Amino acid sequence: MEIIEKTTNTEHEKVLYGRDSKSGYRGFIAIHSTVLGPAFGGTRFWNYASEDEALTDVLRLSRGMTYKNALPGLPLGGGKSIIIGDNRTPNREALFHAHGRFVDSLGGLYITAEDVGTSPADMEIVRQETRHVAGLLGRSGDPSPYTARGVFRAIQAATKFRWNTNELSGLTVAVQGCGHVGYHLVKMLHEAGAKVVAADVNDENLARVVNEFGVETVSPGEIFGVRAEIFSPCALGGVINDQTISELKIQIVAGAANNQLLDERHGEMLKDRDILYVPDYVANAGGVFNGCTELLGWEPARSLEKVDQIYDSVLTIVENANAQGITTNEAANRLAEERIRRARLSRG
Ligand code: NAD
Repeated sequence: MEIIEKTTNTEHEKVLYGRDSKSGYRGFIAIHSTVLGPAFGGTRFWNYASEDEALTDVLRLSRGMTYKNALPGLPLGGGKSIIIGDNRTPNREALFHAHGRFVDSLGGLYITAEDVGTSPADMEIVRQETRHVAGLLGRSGDPSPYTARGVFRAIQAATKFRWNTNELSGLTVAVQGCGHVGYHLVKMLHEAGAKVVAADVNDENLARVVNEFGVETVSPGEIFGVRAEIFSPCALGGVINDQTISELKIQIVAGAANNQLLDERHGEMLKDRDILYVPDYVANAGGVFNGCTELLGWEPARSLEKVDQIYDSVLTIVENANAQGITTNEAANRLAEERIRRARLSRG
């Protein structure tokens, strides 16, 4: 009953629940919008406490994908899928076959790829069931290095706006989450001469950045209170909330995680504290641009150019927000919504 209520009260075009008793598969696919094209967004494999929690996440994530794809003018809508369960399971094959069949049942309305807890190898299994999948081995592959590069460019745009410099050396960046994206971001920050303070709930991922780049670490609970210039959330969503905002001792938030603001009003709270927030879906669009080589036939050089242009997009958005006295998340949303509105009009 709660599920029906939750989905009827949103603007999503379709929300589906899938189950396969043989493999133990349970998952959701949410299609937020196909106004601009087929809904594109990755598959998240996560151990949610309940199906209701997973549903809330897939609704938020798929909406974010609509905005992420609309802002740079891509002919793609927004969608997302979730597999509920422990993503460390060795028993992946049957689950991803079931997921592939679920994706295929939508006939191309939804195209999937990797997200938290899934890998290009998982997408190869999905491909055996459907052609509506990107991020495949030997094709566009793992999007994370591109996402990290885009986040790095977003950080530079934020420092340009705030301190009129792209130079990160001497700055401290607190990075939450050193997984696929976090690892590459830490590497780039380290190479740029920034000091990194990192936290992760996964000891192995944390040890890797300590061993390779000598970063300082804090416990997962301490990362919000680290005194630094920049906080970069690269784990999960909802980390900017009533509680954490009061702990922050930074001036810029720019990271890869989707849905960093628990609620849009938290963008307002950051603004009130004079913390510059780089809207997540602007900073983390690099992976989608990489996927465009596979989805839209782009040359790799074009994808890379688009990733680097995240710098210009961020500057435009923060300057618009500044000029209009609105939050950066609102400024980004307005641009994306305008693109969707125009596409809807031209479609009649
Ligand atoms: P990942 O699963 O590889 O890495 C996430 C890391 O965060 C893991 O190491 C995990 O242990 C850690 N983590 C989880 N909870 C934590 C906590 N409370 N405190 C500290 N660390 C914690 O995922 P990823 O692919 O690196 O993606 C990271 C974020 O970026 C996600 O929100 C994802 O949706 C978003 N994103 C990723 C891509 C991409 O190309 N992979 C693209 C766009 C957005």
